[in-house]
Amino acid sequence: MCVNAPLDTPGGIIGVCRRKPVLEPESEPNMRVVVVGGVAGGMSAAARLRRRDEGAEIIVLERSKYVSFANCGLPYYVGGEIEDPAKLLLHTPQTLKAALNLDVRINSEVTEIDPAAHSVQVADTETGEAYTLTYDHLILSPGALASRPPIDGLDSPRVHTLRTVDDALALREASGTCAVVLGAGFIGIEAAEALAQRGFDTHLVEYAEHVLPPLEVEMATLVTQELRALGVRVHTGVAAQSIAHGDDRDSVTLSDGTELSADLIVLSTGVRPDTALAEAAGIETRGGYILVDDRGRTSAGDVYAVGDATVGRDHDRPVALAGPANRCGRLVADVIADAGHGDATARPIPRPQGTAIVRIGGLTAAMTGENRQALDAAGTRYFTVHTHANQHAGYFPGAKPVHILIHVGTDGQILGAQAVGADGVDRRIDVIATAMRAGLKAPDLIDLDLAYAPPYGQAKDPVNQTGMVAHNVLTGELILTGPDALTEDMPILDVRTMGEYTAGHMPNSLNIPHTQLRDRLDEVRTWVDESVGERPFVVMCAAGVRSWIGYRIVRAAGFNVTMLSGGIQTLRAWLGAKAEAVLVTGEGRA
Ligand code: FAD
Repeated sequence: MCVNAPLDTPGGIIGVCRRKPVLEPESEPNMRVVVVGGVAGGMSAAARLRRRDEGAEIIVLERSKYVSFANCGLPYYVGGEIEDPAKLLLHTPQTLKAALNLDVRINSEVTEIDPAAHSVQVADTETGEAYTLTYDHLILSPGALASRPPIDGLDSPRVHTLRTVDDALALREASGTCAVVLGAGFIGIEAAEALAQRGFDTHLVEYAEHVLPPLEVEMATLVTQELRALGVRVHTGVAAQSIAHGDDRDSVTLSDGTELSADLIVLSTGVRPDTALAEAAGIETRGGYILVDDRGRTSAGDVYAVGDATVGRDHDRPVALAGPANRCGRLVADVIADAGHGDATARPIPRPQGTAIVRIGGLTAAMTGENRQALDAAGTRYFTVHTHANQHAGYFPGAKPVHILIHVGTDGQILGAQAVGADGVDRRIDVIATAMRAGLKAPDLIDLDLAYAPPYGQAKDPVNQTGMVAHNVLTGELILTGPDALTEDMPILDVRTMGEYTAGHMPNSLNIPHTQLRDRLDEVRTWVDESVGERPFVVMCAAGVRSWIGYRIVRAAGFNVTMLSGGIQTLRAWLGAKAEAVLVTGEGRA
């Protein structure tokens, strides 16, 4: 029932609606909920609210001309894998009206929020017409904007972003032969692959030392190799400094002096929350993000926020991903539907783990939880386990390694995990993400009863194996040296075959294959006496399996040893381009 002075709006006569019981049959709405932003978080909230409450009036205001579109699918349209752009539009205002009785208004930008008056100003982006809309509850899901670093010449018409349907349409239509993508995060990588697929000579420029900065370097090296295999030219550790506008092409100058010609430039250097509106309304923010509690409530009464524009009051970092936005939208709808009913069904919004995945050609990279940088910054004590087990039984055709790392707290807590490989990466990261959410510790991964048959996994799944290594460390049976701690002067006992050893080994190493080690312990003793001394030596192999056997043999013989985590596979990836300079070929000291 509307009780204040009505206002003329495109949707009819409106006013502030006082809430009535949800189940009371009536034609008047029991409350009005206004949603700002009609894509991931906003539309999830609106749809869930309707399912919870047939009597609410739900108005969704969307600035662009599309609602409920598949942002995550845009790069695949640019690359041509999705042919029909209509497939990216999951709903229209009409389908949403028919199915959910939502009042979805496109081309409708909210330009002002007045939390005290419980009202928003709305401007029609096509006609400029403006009107006031009051609400009982307001949900903000305005998302993020592409950040624009201070690069001279960024106003070139050849510079594109990839955030909206119109961006994707423009990129799909863009012609030429050479492209420069600035920023090698998720969207930059997807854009680079898409443009390379379309035949562009594509350069990918990243300011950080490696592509996909949230990944650890030993994982990111594999991604760089795959990008290069796709024909993408990767420049890391450099920034774009300026863009010179040309008649035929632009020229991008990098901080190392490199000049790159470009028919089109994709700016994907990160996002910033689209929160000027909320800030102007006095809603509390931190670092530009709207602060929300575990029910999605902002500092303003009856105003909720979800998605890329938010950060949890008790959380240290925002997470701009579709899953959390969708789920928070649903949770906030429950909070609103429950209001006055004692929070019957609403569940608290959990701390986001940042579980993310990306395809790079034939490779998949995925991660969950914290990375090394975040853990080091927080002063956390942890160790890292690297495994390279095959995604399925080695004897079954098509076996390929899933490179997994997990960061484990000294109390056994799984703090973060990453995986890269050609197959089976999604499953492993999802299992570990689930274990983390359930509060399982690293050794608990051993006990996970995962589906197995030779085409699908291993009787000891790669996830189980990762837990086993962590368990060995936590019980003190195994002392790991990470590739980050390995120095060129450290003594190494390399237990690979002579052939593997001669193809590349650490300079200060002794080679005794693991199958011969028990019979050649006197050689180890002589080597230790002559050149190792009191220092521990590091046992290494290709991937960590043989070195574990070797480590146990020499440790049982009383030597002071550690084991290289993940073997030379991890070390090579850690060293990246420096590997050839550090590793020695030839027989060395065998
Ligand atoms: P959005 O979904 O961005 O929706 C915000 C909407 O609010 C926009 O449509 C905007 O026009 C509207 N709006 C803003 N201000 C106003 C206003 N004042 N008035 C009216 N309307 C307004 N995430 C993944 O997890 N996996 C992926 O593979 C993935 N791929 C992606 C690929 C691309 C190209 C992009 C751009 C994003 C991708 N994401 C991915 C991120 C994911 O899309 C976002 O995390 C998610 O959409 C955030 O939801 P949101 O509701 O906060 O914002």
